[in-house]
Amino acid sequence: MKTFMAALLTIVWTLSACTSERATPQQEEKLRFAVMTFAHETCTFCPGGDSDIERWTKIREPYVDDEVLSAGSYVRGFVAAAREYKDVELIGLESPAGVFGGSSASWSTEDAFNHFLDRMLEDLREAMPVDGVYLALHGAMAVRNIPRPEAEIAKRFREVVGPDVPIVGSFDLHGNEDKEFLRWADMAFVTKRYPHYDSAIQGARSARSLVRMARGMYKSTTATRKPGVITPTVLQWTGKSPAMNIMERARRWEAREQDVFVSVFYGFPWADVPDVGATVHVMTNDDQELADKIADDMSDYIWRVREDLFGEEFAQPDTAASKAAEAFSAGKTPIVLADYSDRSGDATHVLREVVDQSLSGVLIATVRDERVLETLLQGNAQVGDRFSMDVGGFAGPASGSPVQIDGTLTYLGKGFSFDTVAVVDFGDRNSLIITPALKQVIWTEELAFGPLRLDNFDTFVVKSRVHFRRGFDETGFAQTIIIVDAPGPFIGTIHLDALPYENVTLTDYYPYGTPPQRQ
Ligand SMILES: [Zn+2]
Repeated sequence: MKTFMAALLTIVWTLSACTSERATPQQEEKLRFAVMTFAHETCTFCPGGDSDIERWTKIREPYVDDEVLSAGSYVRGFVAAAREYKDVELIGLESPAGVFGGSSASWSTEDAFNHFLDRMLEDLREAMPVDGVYLALHGAMAVRNIPRPEAEIAKRFREVVGPDVPIVGSFDLHGNEDKEFLRWADMAFVTKRYPHYDSAIQGARSARSLVRMARGMYKSTTATRKPGVITPTVLQWTGKSPAMNIMERARRWEAREQDVFVSVFYGFPWADVPDVGATVHVMTNDDQELADKIADDMSDYIWRVREDLFGEEFAQPDTAASKAAEAFSAGKTPIVLADYSDRSGDATHVLREVVDQSLSGVLIATVRDERVLETLLQGNAQVGDRFSMDVGGFAGPASGSPVQIDGTLTYLGKGFSFDTVAVVDFGDRNSLIITPALKQVIWTEELAFGPLRLDNFDTFVVKSRVHFRRGFDETGFAQTIIIVDAPGPFIGTIHLDALPYENVTLTDYYPYGTPPQRQ
């Protein structure tokens, strides 16, 4: 019955949307916008079990009332832009702050998804009437039994606000989407940079667009395309083409045409959901023909450069370690070895090579091993103690095997955002940082804690695909950067065909086959 009513309402709304103009409040009238966030980049292939309500509240309790307005990132940009209009009022909806484990956390339970969605919709009903809705999403959330969670969110919001209230979403370029979201929402703004420097900018565009739509100044008309290309995230760095050129082409269209917005998702292949792969959304002001033209152009361009997207070769750990030694001899230091594939944090492939090839002056930042930390704490270990233990390599085949480290404990205490990390000196001027969870080091300054001094090292081993470039590459710090592959087609590597997809036919995407829309 519920489904029938929903379907009936949809038909009624669709009809009314076709026959009537959007509500057009006068300039002087106050606009009330509801704001929420519900974001996760879900790694459905990662171990650790489903993400339930407890995991969704472990980082912090959900934002209540207007707390979500201080959530930062996309919301920061949205709120700042909305406050440029003195007649815009923002209403925060209860929103979860994020999943413990971040993008190494697996499927959300249907129960958790509905729990948080119900809470925010309850707040929304109380706040009605509103003149607009802002959804700060990610796009790669994966929920059991709900194939397209962001579209489902938009649909459920639409059911409450009716057909005439504009709904805008902002997204991470790692989102997995298709045309379903824009069936229920009016606009979708996606970051154009990876690292995601422009999240606040996309939030700000969301706010300005909501104002314009609420005032009847913009009639969002959209086109969506799936070019039929799936890429691992390491190939999506927008500091390099073709990933950079694709985003530049989107910006070019936005510059050339009035009121045009072009959003491109590269997608997140470690979520086993039916809308993986790249997606293009184009929005125009009531010009379907232009929307279709640009969407086709963008989609065809991505298809045209598809081979170059896969042009890069990555070094195996043994080769990477030898290359680092060569770079050291040539004086091309500092050197960064970026282990791009590790999603659990305990992978030891590079650590093993550092030990086996007797490299010197290396800072390993980091290897996750909460068991080692527990043993140190239980044994009341002190700085200066001998350290002789197996480290890392326990979470699964992708992690390699434990590596025996013999050295000296030089630090045990707070580090990064963790209560306890350890630093062990071993071999010739090497240090190993042990953390209780995966740590993606982005900034060099993060590594200057306890006894650690950047100047003491020539080589830095980090667990990062792209984000490390902020601190190590764009600053001019590193003279040599080597992206390190894993010694197997593990999860997190570019070998997507080794993943046990159940909801994706990989041969429908380049480079694994020819997409049906291209046949
Ligand atoms: Zn992302």
